[in-house]
Amino acid sequence: MSIWQIFQRLQPYVKPYRKQIFFALFLTLLGAVTAQVNPWVLRYTVDSVQAMLDKKWGIIQGKDLLIQISIILFVKEIVNSLIVFGQRYFGEKIRIKVSSDLAQEAVSRILKYNLAFYSDNDNQKGKLQTRIDRGVESLTKLIQNFFIDILPLFANSIVALAVMFSANFYVGGIALAILPIYFWISYRQAGELQGVRRKLKRQRENKSSGLINLIESIIVIKSFVREKFEGQKQYQTQMELMETQLKTRRTNFAYDGIKSFIEQIGVVFIIILTVYLVLDQQMSIGAIMFHILLFNNVSAPIRQLHRIYDEMNDALTYSEGFFDILDADNAVETSGKLIPEAIKGDYVLKNVSFAYPNGTKALFNVDVNIKSGQTTALVGLSGAGKSTLINLLVGFYPPDSGTLTLDGRPLNDYDLPALRNSIGMVLQKNHIFKGSIAENIRYGKMSASDEELIEAARKAYLHDQILELPAQYETDAQMLSGGQQQRIAIARLFLKNPPVIFLDEPTASLDAIATEQIKNSLDAIKQGRTVVIISHSLSQILDSDQIYVMKKGRIAEFGTHASLYDSEGVYREIFDASARSLNLEKMIGLLSKD
Ligand code: ADP
Repeated sequence: MSIWQIFQRLQPYVKPYRKQIFFALFLTLLGAVTAQVNPWVLRYTVDSVQAMLDKKWGIIQGKDLLIQISIILFVKEIVNSLIVFGQRYFGEKIRIKVSSDLAQEAVSRILKYNLAFYSDNDNQKGKLQTRIDRGVESLTKLIQNFFIDILPLFANSIVALAVMFSANFYVGGIALAILPIYFWISYRQAGELQGVRRKLKRQRENKSSGLINLIESIIVIKSFVREKFEGQKQYQTQMELMETQLKTRRTNFAYDGIKSFIEQIGVVFIIILTVYLVLDQQMSIGAIMFHILLFNNVSAPIRQLHRIYDEMNDALTYSEGFFDILDADNAVETSGKLIPEAIKGDYVLKNVSFAYPNGTKALFNVDVNIKSGQTTALVGLSGAGKSTLINLLVGFYPPDSGTLTLDGRPLNDYDLPALRNSIGMVLQKNHIFKGSIAENIRYGKMSASDEELIEAARKAYLHDQILELPAQYETDAQMLSGGQQQRIAIARLFLKNPPVIFLDEPTASLDAIATEQIKNSLDAIKQGRTVVIISHSLSQILDSDQIYVMKKGRIAEFGTHASLYDSEGVYREIFDASARSLNLEKMIGLLSKD
């Protein structure tokens, strides 16, 4: 992206603040004119004092001059302060407003994106956050630079240059001649840092996602006593980052030295030329001061050029990644328009194949028929593709080939919110938001009354446990045990009350008592609904009306428990292994003793 493209992209965000911008620009112009007052006043003062000295006048005769210039400088300073304040305030106002608009736009965009977007390597939690934060930060800095730094400084510089030219063509010529050299050096400097900046960006992202990973894995790290190993890994990343940072600084310092050298040469040339003109009686002695101060006005913004270049490069580096997030149109979930009165849950999959965006092939020519009002179990070893199948049924991903219909209509005809409002999901581990238990359960139905909330918690065998907590329903939900968090997910389901339910190993991580209670809750909720359950629990499989057995992304068998058991295939193998793992013979022996 070029800087102009970035400005074009920013236009819609800046446009609402047109009035403030015009006002800021007006102040800028005014500021550029007042900035030239000092050189004028100093030239006038030096020349007047020189004339007085020539006439051998003293302080009494010079009093009027002193009062005059004091008033001029005093008034100019007041006007200037007001201008600078107005300029900064409006510039900052534009910056803050645009910054929050950009951040909000990024959030509302990513909420629209499909799961494929989130599973992309570039969009992992830490990376996506850095891309958004850095993007907004550097774009707003660009705006700030433009309105608060560049424009005022350059307006100042151009006016000063014009005054220099009008004073003397050659003096103006020297000031002007320095500029291209300066630009060229800054340009070289920026070019040299371009590749390094990208590297710096990548290393920063790696560092922050590395840190997030470390915090998330702290229990595993400690239990395997891998603190040293992890510390070493972080150290490595840190060292690489440090090296790049040092290189950036080294390059900057070297170029800055060259630039200030060039600037000083400019000053020397201007002094030599002006002194020559003064001695040649072409100018008054005040011109020396006048020209040096004006040249200072010309070169001040140019001294800032590398910083502005730096920040523009930042904007170039980070805005690309940021606008990529806003522009990921192909990641926007495509929703159909069909809003059915009620969804029954008759899913038919014919010859469905699917691969994840990273290329992992997860489903091959799958034929599945899920019947409404019945419970369908998906059985298979882990990695067989069971969760993937559910992902397709919820419309998280579209199939790559084959057909997928719900109640006789292609799934992608359905309005996604309408579809998902009719589906409830309980997973092996359910997400608990930061907040109270009540807020977390209410996620199932935002408008639920307290009574409905309590009723749902009761059905999920959670109410009594909540009453024992210190703050009851206001307790922080993230502090709850795994089993209790699972019950929150089930309570949400009761509140949502959907006709179709997907359960992905809902009791896998629970103890026996919790498993039994949650099974009871689920049995209650299953009544009259379409249920798809992934489970390794024999009792839950036995309760289902039909069973699909998956193996390596394919349907290996399907039927009822009795028919599958008799056919002595994969199902029988899994079933027998599960039964053996329960040590049934001993158990039955123990039970019969009682
Ligand atoms: P199961 O639920 O039967 O244990 P999954 O459906 O979770 O199996 O996984 C099927 C295959 O798809 C596995 O090889 C798994 O690694 C892969 N997979 C699952 N989720 C993703 C994802 N988000 N991106 C890429 N591959 C995935």
